[in-house]
Amino acid sequence: MKKIEHIGIAVKDLEKSNILFKQLFGNAHYKIEEVVSEGVKTSFFKAGPNKIELLEATNSDSPIAKFIEKKGEGIHHIAFAVDDITLEIKRLKDEGFTVLNNSPKRGADNKLVAFLHPKSTNGVLIELCQEIK
Ligand code: ZN
Repeated sequence: MKKIEHIGIAVKDLEKSNILFKQLFGNAHYKIEEVVSEGVKTSFFKAGPNKIELLEATNSDSPIAKFIEKKGEGIHHIAFAVDDITLEIKRLKDEGFTVLNNSPKRGADNKLVAFLHPKSTNGVLIELCQEIK
């Protein structure tokens, strides 16, 4: 894994949170993107070299809706950049981690993504992401 690519924060109301985080960072989000397959609408902010993703559920079956129901708003996942996601999925499975999707899927912000189950990572949902070139 190369570096933290972004941190994902689950929010109830993306529009309100976009205003809040604009006040926090001093600059507005640079992108809004809906990932229909995941039932989420996301916005992305830059804070210096770092990236924050806000996620709002677009339906009640969305993983974000379930997360907020259980835990409330807050940090949802930490995403790490990888060079070769397929290789990394295999490596982590061999190490005994539970990978939620065996083949990479299309995520927001032009990335192929995969998630590790928080049960196998001390309660932290880990996202792997590889830039689509
Ligand atoms: Zn993410």
